[in-house]
Amino acid sequence: MKTLITNSYILDMVGDEPNIRKADILIENNKIARIDKEIIEEVDEKINAKNMLVMPGLINTHTHLAMSIFRGYKDDRKLMDWLENAIFPVEDKLKPEDIYWNSYLSCLEMIKSGTTTCNDMYFGMNKAIEAIEVTGLRAIVAWSITDDSIRDKIEKTREYAKRYNDDENSRITVFTSPHAPYSCNPDTIKLCVDLAKELKTGLHIHLAETLNEVKIVKDRYGKSATEYLADLDVFDVPVVLAHGIYISEKDIKILKDHNIRGGISHNPISNCKLSSGICDVVNLRKNEINVGLGTDGIGSTTTLDMFEEMKTAAYLQKVNTMEPTAIKAYDILKMSTIEGAKVLGLENQIGTIEEGKKADLIFIKTDKLHLCPENDICANIVYSANGSDVDTVMIDGKIIMQNRKMRNINEREVMKQVKKIAKRLCK
Ligand SMILES: [Zn+2]
Repeated sequence: MKTLITNSYILDMVGDEPNIRKADILIENNKIARIDKEIIEEVDEKINAKNMLVMPGLINTHTHLAMSIFRGYKDDRKLMDWLENAIFPVEDKLKPEDIYWNSYLSCLEMIKSGTTTCNDMYFGMNKAIEAIEVTGLRAIVAWSITDDSIRDKIEKTREYAKRYNDDENSRITVFTSPHAPYSCNPDTIKLCVDLAKELKTGLHIHLAETLNEVKIVKDRYGKSATEYLADLDVFDVPVVLAHGIYISEKDIKILKDHNIRGGISHNPISNCKLSSGICDVVNLRKNEINVGLGTDGIGSTTTLDMFEEMKTAAYLQKVNTMEPTAIKAYDILKMSTIEGAKVLGLENQIGTIEEGKKADLIFIKTDKLHLCPENDICANIVYSANGSDVDTVMIDGKIIMQNRKMRNINEREVMKQVKKIAKRLCK
């Protein structure tokens, strides 16, 4: 299968400075085969990208797909009250089919707002994987493990990792995932680390999201959450550390001394909505720790639109440092593309537009009132654009959405199913 993209302005996200140029892109099967000024070639499909900017698909480094059902459900509460009195009672009643439809809705929402890869952790992941397969998204998935029902989740992780992880053309990769330092005892975390080593895969965990969590870990183990993980050899394997708000200079030194592979997933809107705090992204990046952007699950965040996260991330850092130059639009774009790919260990496959990389591309329609004039295209994307400016999405060389229409998917049916589940569970 060959696809040719013509008339495109490309933002390739390769260098330290933005590089925007007019070029054609030839896609062969799932990879970018050639980028050139003008390509003449017999192809199966041509896409005219006039008035569009083509850039790498956005990478959402921390999600809980099946939580779409919680949109607007018992909002504006304190975290523990929200979890214990709103979220957990409904989660207890979620059936496998519910996980499938809820995840399906999230996959569609992400694709329609320009996300081509996500990193998901939850339970019932076999049903989330079905939704990911149907929609065409690229994803890392993990069964979230706490101190109960460990064996079953470990077995599922092993079974699905063997099914997906060795195939270089698979869109799905399976990680291990101890839920968080406060919800996993040392034995549970050790089991997950050993499993990640056995399967030669990564580990996804929440870390230092709230002050309360910091206190629990300190009271229980006499150390910071980062030290707790280091002492359990977590940093021997590639890691995605979600949130990373309460990380001290000593913790940063631990991460650096371990030369960690992976990095931090920053979830600015979730951190704001739950009043968790502000991740010091500027300091982490200064210390050469990879930072990607994530949404977290619906409920703690409001949409899965990464453009919203990009804006919020930029504004939070500017306020946090009281320094408007501390982070620039292009830095934020890197965090949602190539640096996100580094956090997930996928930087050799996705995150930039380069020959040989997988063809995960988004086309942003630029001839719009709120994107006019184009004094600075990167600033326009980060500060002025939104998810509905994404016109076309290609994942793994396949057009998944064009002219904002999903190919081969009935969006209405998915919404109907999720509304039915919400009516049953979220009274
Ligand atoms: Zn989370």
